[in-house]
Formats: sequence, structure tokens, C-alpha cells
Amino acid sequence: MNDCIFCKIIVGDIPSNILYQDELLVAFPDLNPTAKMHILVVPKNHQANVSILAAENPKTLQRLVSVSQNLANQFANGDYRLIFNTGSTVGQSVFHVHAHVVGGETLPE
Ligand code: AMP
Repeated sequence: MNDCIFCKIIVGDIPSNILYQDELLVAFPDLNPTAKMHILVVPKNHQANVSILAAENPKTLQRLVSVSQNLANQFANGDYRLIFNTGSTVGQSVFHVHAHVVGGETLPE
């Protein structure tokens, strides 16, 4: 997608500190972290949201959860909150599916 910021990060047109990548996923720190650990895990294939990902690429979603756990083990104490904002009214601003992996400190409920 020509104007997708995460597609540009995936192909290297926008620099980012890539923390992990494999053939399906890439992970990098959120530009505006809301906790000590705030990492985005992003499928390389452009799809708009997690519902579409689950329907069309369930193995990628399964991998995403596994990678999120590994990142939380590496960058926090293994605990993490996994957030998929889905739709503009609940805060989705980038319409390329991504998981926020948040933790590294005690979070409000
Ligand atoms: P959402 O609001 O759920 O769509 O999440 C989009 C997230 O992408 C926000 O938390 C932004 O801070 C983050 N973001 C936007 N641009 C970049 C970037 N270039 N590098 C890292 N994170 C970004």
C-alpha cells in the first residue's frame, strides 16, 4: 500500500528500530510509548484489522501471539497486555493491522 506508514517501515523506506522479524511479522517500538514496554507487532502482509487477519491468515495471528510472548519475556517480566484497536472510534489510527504489546510496569486495570 503506497501511503501506509507500516508498509513503509516493513520495506525500510521509513527507518525504525526493528526488534524482531521473520517471514510473517516485524516488531518495533511504538513512537509514542504508553508504558515502559510498548512494542508494535505488525504482519508484513497489509490487512486493515485483526478481524480480517483472523479470517484470512489465522496462522499469522497465532504466530503474532507467540512472538508477543517472546518479546514480553525479553523486554519485560513475561507479562503483557495485547491490544488491537479496531476502528477509528476506538482509536485505530493506522489501518494496517498491528498489536500493541504493552507492559514492563504495573498497568491500570
Ligand atoms: P493505533 O492508534 O492503534 O492505530 O496505533 C498506531 C500506533 O502507531 C500509535 O501508537 C503510534 O504511536 C504508532 N506509530 C505511528 N507512526 C509510527 C512510527 N513511524 N514508528 C513507530 N510507531 C508509530
